[in-house]
Amino acid sequence: MKILITGGAGFIGSNFVNYMVEKYPDYQFVNLDALTYAGNLENLQKSEEKPNYRFVKGDITDRELVDSLVADGVDVIVNFAAESHVDRSITEPDIFVKTNIMGTQVLLDVAKKHNIKKYVQVSTDEVYGTLGETGYFTEETSLAPNSPYSASKAGADLLVRAYHETYGLPVNITRCSNNYGPYHFPEKLIPLMIINALKGKELPVYGDGLNVRDWLYVEDHCAAIDLVIHKGKAGEVYNVGGNNERTNIEIVKRILKELGKSEDLIRFVQDRPGHDRRYAIDATKIRTELGWEPKYTFKTGIVKTIQWYLENQKWWERIISGDYQKYYEQQYKNR
Ligand code: NAD
Repeated sequence: MKILITGGAGFIGSNFVNYMVEKYPDYQFVNLDALTYAGNLENLQKSEEKPNYRFVKGDITDRELVDSLVADGVDVIVNFAAESHVDRSITEPDIFVKTNIMGTQVLLDVAKKHNIKKYVQVSTDEVYGTLGETGYFTEETSLAPNSPYSASKAGADLLVRAYHETYGLPVNITRCSNNYGPYHFPEKLIPLMIINALKGKELPVYGDGLNVRDWLYVEDHCAAIDLVIHKGKAGEVYNVGGNNERTNIEIVKRILKELGKSEDLIRFVQDRPGHDRRYAIDATKIRTELGWEPKYTFKTGIVKTIQWYLENQKWWERIISGDYQKYYEQQYKNR
């Protein structure tokens, strides 16, 4: 089997590449990534050494390039490539529409042209919008995205669905809750808080800190996508979630406790516009139909993650010393 993974130099994509290249030595893997600010080849050192892995630098909106890669015997496409940061989508929505919607359309067209066996779109629970105090997102929940990021992901999901309904393309969509774990870019909540705490810097928490997210350790997400590739029924959507609802402030306090730092470092900052209050996933379908079970609880996953950031200081030091630092200063300057 030959699998084209797009966006495989980002956080989840690189974890997935490393997981699959190791697990399936007889498969061939091609990783197509544009290496935006979020792509980092350092994440892939384990796979680089393996003969069944190849990296191609390029954009998913480049039809000619995607066509030439898929024409070379690709059986499956897994699309992680995206602009993924909600805050950035509020200030620069254009690139979100280009990569997330138009890029997906190019991949779908090429997949159709070459009759590939499976197309997997890695989507997000954010397409469902927000929940009140109770209830869960199921695969039947209506799409109601609230940010330019989630709207672009929802647009892509609808195209994927349409290519199945109109052309019979064998597709799956996975909608996952918030991931955490190794190689998570320092702009996202958990790595940002770990790194700031380690540096003795303030920990900026949006609003009242009571927004709820359902956290999933990234390796459990990788295992879910592996199952969907091999066992997912064409045309189906699968929600993936760890049943680990936590408020942002609980996460921050937990990190400070694990690192033995004071809660005085917490600083509440002005909330993000359109900030969804609560996400929670009902993952019954993937559990019962495909037999998926997460291996990590939040307790085991967060300890492993903190340990990884302690052991890989060079990895994140290099990132936060570059352009990211300018972005960070801009983002929190006037809040
Ligand atoms: P990320 O931002 O860390 O990585 C995205 C990768 O895509 C980067 O390597 C980047 O270089 C690449 N990329 C961006 N534009 C590209 C383009 N035009 N062509 C080729 N490559 C391009 O994102 P992530 O957190 O790893 O998320 C991966 C996918 O999973 C995304 O589609 C995201 O919507 C989805 N998702 C993420 C989460 C989460 O918690 N991080 C949760 C649910 C779903």
